[in-house]
Amino acid sequence: MSQKGEKYARSVEARVQAVETRIMDLERRQTDSDLFTRGLRNLDTNYSRLLQSESKRHRHAVAAAQREAARWKVNAALALILLGLTAACCVVYATAQEEETPQGGPVVQYLPDDGRLMGDSVPALTRCYLTPEETEAAENEMIEAALLARATRIDNVTVTHYDCCAECCGKTDGITASGVRATPGVTVAVDPAVIPLGSDVLVDYGDGEIHYYRADDVGGSVTGNHIDLCVGDHEEADALGHRMATVWWVNS
Ligand SMILES: [Zn+2]
Repeated sequence: MSQKGEKYARSVEARVQAVETRIMDLERRQTDSDLFTRGLRNLDTNYSRLLQSESKRHRHAVAAAQREAARWKVNAALALILLGLTAACCVVYATAQEEETPQGGPVVQYLPDDGRLMGDSVPALTRCYLTPEETEAAENEMIEAALLARATRIDNVTVTHYDCCAECCGKTDGITASGVRATPGVTVAVDPAVIPLGSDVLVDYGDGEIHYYRADDVGGSVTGNHIDLCVGDHEEADALGHRMATVWWVNS
């Protein structure tokens, strides 16, 4: 082949190669384009799926939130009912308290103006006062104790009895040695050397009682440890006879 021919052949070959390269390049681009398209499609699909799944999740979340809200609504209603019941109880309790302790401090009950005390119409179950007899007995006990504390004691005293008849006294005016009238149950004749006239005389017969007399009289037969008690009449004096007693006397 000629030199010119060879040169032409190489140029042709070079062009063919260039065309081939170009074709390959185009083919590659086509492939890339296909890949890109496919990739886009995939992306689209994936995106749709994602959207769907997101939407699904969102719906679930909304439903859960709605359920939660409903539950809280029920809770709130229950709390309100409980609050109402508590308030009602408070009101009832407060009303009861008010009824028990009315306002304005302690209850003042006025006494009736007819002199009666409250409860006078109700019989007392126990007695909280002394009868006049009990009061007198208590007073006597105190007087006795006071007198005995400073009294002179005489044991084994003979006690006889007299009245104001002529037989007993030799006269009937009843005037005693001290000038006062003899009084049955009060006057006693004594030996002034043993018991001074005017003394209080306490006679204890040993029966638990002490009898009081006043030493206002004397008598011819009344000497030493002997006292003569004035009684109502001669029969009584005879009947009582004589007794033995312990005697205290006190200068009043
Ligand atoms: Zn007499």
